[in-house]
Amino acid sequence: MISRARSEALFAEALERIPGGVNSPVRAFRAVGGQPFFVDRARGARVWDVDGREYIDYVCTWGPAILGHAHPGIIRAIQQAAEHGTSFGIPNPLEVKLARLICEAMPSIEKVRLCNSGTEATMSAIRLARGFTRRDKIIKFEGCYHGHVDSLLVKAGSGALTLGHPDSAGVPASFVEHTLVLPFNDLEAAQAALAAHPGEVAGIILEPVPGNSGLYLPQPGYLEGLQKIASADGALLIFDEVMTGFRLAWGGAQSIFGIEPDLTCLGKVIGGGLPVGAFGGRREIMDCLAPLGPVYQAGTLSGNPLAMAAGIAALEELRAADAYRQLETRGQQLEEGMRAAARRASVPVRFQRMGSMFCAYFTDQPVDRLSDALKSDRARFAKYFHGMLEEGIYVAPSQFEAGFLSAAHTEADIDATIRAAAKALAGL
Ligand SMILES: *Cc1c(COP(=O)(O)O)cnc(C)c1O
Repeated sequence: MISRARSEALFAEALERIPGGVNSPVRAFRAVGGQPFFVDRARGARVWDVDGREYIDYVCTWGPAILGHAHPGIIRAIQQAAEHGTSFGIPNPLEVKLARLICEAMPSIEKVRLCNSGTEATMSAIRLARGFTRRDKIIKFEGCYHGHVDSLLVKAGSGALTLGHPDSAGVPASFVEHTLVLPFNDLEAAQAALAAHPGEVAGIILEPVPGNSGLYLPQPGYLEGLQKIASADGALLIFDEVMTGFRLAWGGAQSIFGIEPDLTCLGKVIGGGLPVGAFGGRREIMDCLAPLGPVYQAGTLSGNPLAMAAGIAALEELRAADAYRQLETRGQQLEEGMRAAARRASVPVRFQRMGSMFCAYFTDQPVDRLSDALKSDRARFAKYFHGMLEEGIYVAPSQFEAGFLSAAHTEADIDATIRAAAKALAGL
């Protein structure tokens, strides 16, 4: 039996002081049962818990650690920046450099505003879309997560065109009455929603490759279709690339699919592991932001020099190392190995992947939208999760989260992971 005494003691105290013992709900392991481990340190593809156990990590701090943990270049950049002071509240050169890198990577972004989290980015992008178009309604999709923004915390409606209901207590129904929730990969539903509300929809916000209900891909032509109908209607197309930006490719999902959205939200990778968000897009839209325009948005710590330095180091390293080719190779290795392991164990698993993002759904059906994802066997996933943890492999503690590879995962790490999965799957 593995000792988890230190993690258990810390969690017991955390439960007294922090609601649920955690500062973000999915960390609590509620979806899989048991208790979270507490991390002592992390390096490369590995994390070590306070009881001294080592894990190969496929959570990668939920996406940002694309170069692996404690990357020496990022650590050095943070240390050097810290010597100059941790926050100024007046412009610093690093903000300009990160903005330039983002605009170079994503030509749809002519101007960008930096903030402190993905949630702030989507919240502000929605406000900006409404201010620019002078319209109120927003279309979002079932299963897409855009942070804990009031108007976007809306559950799946029963069909296209149903008005939203708040997913969370504390969100007045009136806050979400302008949010339309539609199924993903259903262009007709989006067309019908726009037709039902002509001239009323400010923006269509989506994860171009949804990674917050596991992972599913846009069907061929879907993103192009959305862009076309949005543009014909005058609604803005908003890509939430907080997860996919600089993760699927240097230019994000938009570069892979060849789409230039009106606005893009970023976070995660662009902070190199520090708290950062960003939203950007066409100049005429971005110039509606204060101090140029009437849409207010601000932040005491926005453009924080430590976060800027970490983000710049991460992006420059990603570009220089051409990390994406290696991530694709490792992704293929994992995909083939996992599929073979599931076949041998006769466990129905749908392994979906794009680049360094993946999900093993416990179902034999294709997953193209939230309703498909919800058909997977969560009890089986929970057993698999604990089986993997026993073998020293840390995957996200929920069936409905994407897994992430980093540039620090070696061929041998993936081999070890596939062997562990074969064992965990055989035990189901
Ligand atoms: C993580 C995430 C967010 C929220 O970012 P936070 O930094 O957690 O606020 C928003 N959108 C997407 C697609 C995300 O994956």
